[in-house]
Amino acid sequence: MASQASTEELEAHVFDPRHYVPAPAELAGRVVAVTGASSGLGRAVALACAQHQANVVLIGRDSARLEAVHGAIAAAGAPEASIAVLDLEQALAQDYDQLAAAVLERYGRLDGLLHNAGLLGTLTPIEHYDVPTWCRVLHVNLTAAFALTQVLLPALKRSPDASVVFTASSVGRRGRAYWGAYAVSKFALEGLAQVLADELEGISRVRVNTLNPGRARTAMRRLAYPAEDFAAVPLPESLTAPYIALLGPASRGVTGQAFDAQPASVPAATAESSAPNSS
Ligand code: NDP
Repeated sequence: MASQASTEELEAHVFDPRHYVPAPAELAGRVVAVTGASSGLGRAVALACAQHQANVVLIGRDSARLEAVHGAIAAAGAPEASIAVLDLEQALAQDYDQLAAAVLERYGRLDGLLHNAGLLGTLTPIEHYDVPTWCRVLHVNLTAAFALTQVLLPALKRSPDASVVFTASSVGRRGRAYWGAYAVSKFALEGLAQVLADELEGISRVRVNTLNPGRARTAMRRLAYPAEDFAAVPLPESLTAPYIALLGPASRGVTGQAFDAQPASVPAATAESSAPNSS
């Protein structure tokens, strides 16, 4: 009986962001930066963070789109957001430094960093994968996330409870034919998250995890699955709670782990299909 009770106790404490219901002011007083905040999942998560009372730093390459998200946050009566224009393909060291300095100057710290921006590249066999496309995808998805984390670490370390989240993918946890640089970049992000989590555990209050959103109705999804019934794919707005769980106080003490935002999906077609149902 005693061992069963302790197993149940343990299970009750296993953190699972999939069923999390955040409180209305869950992120009050927190400063959260989101890359790729201009569209898709990043836009939805940025809006949700603001609605849960965070000050959000909207990072993206398209200032008009970022302004629109900024406006939507203001219209919702949420805490004022700020905009940081950064093209992750073109940015140089000084651009990263400027962004980090601006965050420190305005907020004095950073409590959450969501690496969400991503590039699909092409669905091509490795044998024929275009090398420049490979380099672009690896740069935007992996190297830029590394560089941004590095410059923002001083601000994250000033937080009493900071969280870094890298956006994962099912093809970055189990390799799949034709997903090329995208899959490899997502595998590498899992590695980056594990290395960083291990380095920071015990010497800082910064935790580091990965989150696979699963299927979401976005431009990238459309590109990857042009023949899919788009209307049947979940809207990004329906997937924001797990992000808030990982970015906010609910996941305090959880680090070095890989999470999913949705239950595991069953491949729509055959296992050999080149068009699996989750990117
Ligand atoms: P979108 O294409 O809608 O969003 C991608 C975001 O990345 C956009 O905001 C885009 O900016 C930004 N971005 C791309 N290139 C750059 C760049 N050079 N500099 C700055 N920002 C850039 O796709 P999703 O919302 O679907 O993707 C979000 C994340 O979720 C990605 O990491 C993706 O891999 C992951 N994911 C998505 C799944 C899905 O089914 N949708 C499944 C699994 C993972 P802009 O608005 O200017 O184009």
